[in-house]
Amino acid sequence: MAKITKIETIRTRDNGTWVFVKVHTDQPGLYGIGSASDHFHARTVIAAIETIAPKLIGREASAIEDNWQTVYTSAYWRNGSILNTALAGIDMALWDIKGKEAGMPVYQLLGGPTRAAVMAYAHAAGDDLIELEDDVRRYIEEGYQVIRCQLGQYGGGGFIPAEQARMPKNLRGQVNAFDDDAYLETLPKMFAHLRDKLGFGPKFTHDVHEHLKPHNAVALAKLLEPYRLFFLEDLLSPEQVDWYRLVRQQCVTPQAMGELFINPHEWTPLITERLIDFVRVRVSKGGGITQCRKIAVLCEWFGVQTAWQEGGDNDPVNQMAAVHLDMVSTSFGVQEENHFRPEEYEICPGHALLEGGYLYPNDQPGLGIDIDEDKARAVLNPELASKSFYIAEDRRSDGSIVRP
Ligand SMILES: [Mg+2]
Repeated sequence: MAKITKIETIRTRDNGTWVFVKVHTDQPGLYGIGSASDHFHARTVIAAIETIAPKLIGREASAIEDNWQTVYTSAYWRNGSILNTALAGIDMALWDIKGKEAGMPVYQLLGGPTRAAVMAYAHAAGDDLIELEDDVRRYIEEGYQVIRCQLGQYGGGGFIPAEQARMPKNLRGQVNAFDDDAYLETLPKMFAHLRDKLGFGPKFTHDVHEHLKPHNAVALAKLLEPYRLFFLEDLLSPEQVDWYRLVRQQCVTPQAMGELFINPHEWTPLITERLIDFVRVRVSKGGGITQCRKIAVLCEWFGVQTAWQEGGDNDPVNQMAAVHLDMVSTSFGVQEENHFRPEEYEICPGHALLEGGYLYPNDQPGLGIDIDEDKARAVLNPELASKSFYIAEDRRSDGSIVRP
């Protein structure tokens, strides 16, 4: 059996926000690849991996569960976003190694495929209804069955231009203001338009990105009920998930939640009390394949489905880990897709193939994906990678922040 000899990180994408983990072993040519990307804290995650690595050097690479538990408890405090990401990168790499040792893809090790391919959903957006409708039509033509519909950026449809919003005289510069009532007015009209033009054939989702106050979130779920969404995403912030009980009492709009979750105490009650319909943990933020496999199995017993988070800032290795879980899970619902540039795909030979609204893994041993380190280094822009990145900051008319 292979022993872990070295754990290194590879930082890439032009802005340096992708962090890949490479776990080396004492067996010639045998290594594993994992994703530990964090758009906002790439340098912090790398430091965490460097801190964890000595604990694992010399241990059996095949003892994935024990290695996971060892790292999970090694700093006493746990379930943090950074440490979960570091742990997940190592965990994925260990599954990659195990698959290579067994000579089979990870989805075969996990029980074998339960589906032929992984249904993915696309992100359609437009600044007005016509632009959005055109974008939705484009994805329908590409083969997508499930399409997320947004008016511009997160919260779009709820922003009032600064000159129209009644703002305090001492407010700092602000170009617009998010208003719950404007959002509640716009969103039902958006879906009325799409259903009127496109019928009920396409399956639609929408991401609220936790912009609403809880009672307005309940109201929106109820107002959107006639449009029969595939799911409504991130209706409530993680601090307000108890309000899902009221949502359930008020309407049958399916709920997707969990991309900010990092702790079993967050997802367990929502799943076991059947308060949500789709759990959306990001595989790396949940602690990797080992942890998310357990979430998928928990979902199976309670009739909840998985919709692992991907999106714009994620990387092809994390996506591949999600695809392996999707292939084996009977609780699979849908997979969020990403938009990678051609040169970014070239960094990751063996990446999942996206075609006609489906993601396909390959039949190579392990995760089936690798890192071309020369290309990874070539795309990195050191000046851009030295910057810090922050999430968009939305504010209400009185200047107070909208907590996503
Ligand atoms: Mg979301």
